[in-house]
Amino acid sequence: MIISKQFNFDEFTKKYLNEPLVHSYCKSCENYNLNYSCPDHKDSLIEKYKNYKYITVFIYKDTYDQFVTHEDAYWNARNFIDKAIFDFEKETNSIGLIPGKCILCNPCLKTLDEPCPTPELIRHSLETIGFHVSNIIENEFNEKLEWDTKILHLVFAALSNQPITAKFDDFLKFYI
Ligand code: SF4
Repeated sequence: MIISKQFNFDEFTKKYLNEPLVHSYCKSCENYNLNYSCPDHKDSLIEKYKNYKYITVFIYKDTYDQFVTHEDAYWNARNFIDKAIFDFEKETNSIGLIPGKCILCNPCLKTLDEPCPTPELIRHSLETIGFHVSNIIENEFNEKLEWDTKILHLVFAALSNQPITAKFDDFLKFYI
């Protein structure tokens, strides 16, 4: 199931951007500074995105089998969500924000101290920009990120200069 909501990006940023706090959480992630899409970045990423007018936030919510780990369910969903995000961008003239680190190479070439081969394809996450995702989904969607239940939430977004009316499910269905 996909839940979505569109916001004025300026107001959304004032309400939910807290880069120092969110990046302090990132420091405890195993990917910190090991993926070009993840912190630590030299410059604040909001500068790159601040001129967009709208943000549409999406939550992919699903349950998974008791014998499947949360991690496996997450990586399975990433495979089809990321593909659909690139299609959605083209159709809606938006830029996607992915639900985690960039997974186009495995491992990210940053771990090998080599340049990214496709910097134009790097997409950032809401967290990487500094948005407080758990506050967003609790306040705006009445949802809660819970890792110890069999409920999966993947949070991602599209930034645009015009309101988006396309439904993400229509893009996802080609990959599920
Ligand atoms: S495209 Fe590859 S090297 Fe570039 S950020 Fe993504 S995973 Fe890393």
